[in-house]
Amino acid sequence: MSISDIKAALLTAIRDFEIIDCHEHLGPEEERTSEPVDVLNLFGHYTRTDLITAGMSEADFQRLHDHNYPLEFRWRLLQRYLPEIRFGSYARAGFIAARELYGFDDINDDTYEALSAAMQERNQPGVYRWILREKCKIRCCFTQGGNDYGDRDLLLAVMRVLHVHHVHTWEAIQNNAASWGAKVHTLEDYLEAFEQAVVAGKQRGVVGLKIHANPYTDPDYPEAVAGWEGLRAGRIERLPQWHPLHTYVLDRMLEMAARHDLIVATHSGLWGDFRQLEAVHMIPFFMRHPQTRFDLYHLSFPQMQEATIIGKNFANVWLNLCWTHIMSPTLTKEGMRLILDFVPVNKVFAFGGDYMSRAVDKVIGHLRMAQENLAEVLAERVHAGLMTEDQALEVARKWFWDNPKEAYRLEV
Ligand SMILES: [Zn+2]
Repeated sequence: MSISDIKAALLTAIRDFEIIDCHEHLGPEEERTSEPVDVLNLFGHYTRTDLITAGMSEADFQRLHDHNYPLEFRWRLLQRYLPEIRFGSYARAGFIAARELYGFDDINDDTYEALSAAMQERNQPGVYRWILREKCKIRCCFTQGGNDYGDRDLLLAVMRVLHVHHVHTWEAIQNNAASWGAKVHTLEDYLEAFEQAVVAGKQRGVVGLKIHANPYTDPDYPEAVAGWEGLRAGRIERLPQWHPLHTYVLDRMLEMAARHDLIVATHSGLWGDFRQLEAVHMIPFFMRHPQTRFDLYHLSFPQMQEATIIGKNFANVWLNLCWTHIMSPTLTKEGMRLILDFVPVNKVFAFGGDYMSRAVDKVIGHLRMAQENLAEVLAERVHAGLMTEDQALEVARKWFWDNPKEAYRLEV
């Protein structure tokens, strides 16, 4: 059989899997249904980067989603730049959504109005379950879109905690404490109040904490305390970007995560100055906290080699391919080849859509791209005689289901 025949067979089987979506920014469904939707929803969120880079002004991008302007006007704004971005992988997810969810093979002058009407018609309570469960076969999503998700069977909350350790002013410290219903004086008060918030979160169904890979300082407890006391006494108005207080609080939070059996999702790579977001910054934390489980996001794009070697060397780190399939199928497939070469197959999560409510339609586009990418890379291995088709499907099942289920301690 040719590689493409094997890929087609694997893809058919993989598309039948029930899956766990390992990262979204979906808020409660009302966030989506309370706003009108149309074709422009398929060109918001990530596609913004491509539109702005292609030359669209920020003001025009904002107008795309401003329903005070008529649909036709907003479509014309998009249409000016659509030819420049339509072959990129961010846009492709939107085209797949138009086809698979609403039955439109293209998005153009002839279809944009009917597509918009079809999207609005579906924008009713139940739209999440229709897209995610029915169309995507997603059992549940780990999501970071607020605190109260309503549908706790479908949406499992990951608590964002970057602002807890990466704090620069006394006012920010007090605001954090107030959000947990506490007022704090000492550093120990602060950590204790946060730990109570974590315990309460876990009781509400929180499944993990979310931080970023950043260039933290080395641990220095006296300096950390000096920073805290300086803020408290008003001697220091604002801490520098990276201060030992941040490192100390993060270290303590990572101990709490282990104590309460919560995984720590860790963003790496991709955004803006991605040198500040490289996975390698976290190596000292991976080493200091062998009992803490880390879910390392995005393969630290474009540093896939470093990320995959981290996946090889640290028993407490899982590699999560969320966002990567729409960033670049080319880099993601190369990353998966590296992973198959040297990371145990029980340490990888295949998919996270990484979309907000407004763009929830595109989860299906992203998922289809992830399924294709994995089918292709596994087909190469089967074709080379390195595994059978059944073994390839076993790997895929682990990446889409078993591994996140195990690492996130799910009882699904
Ligand atoms: Zn994200």
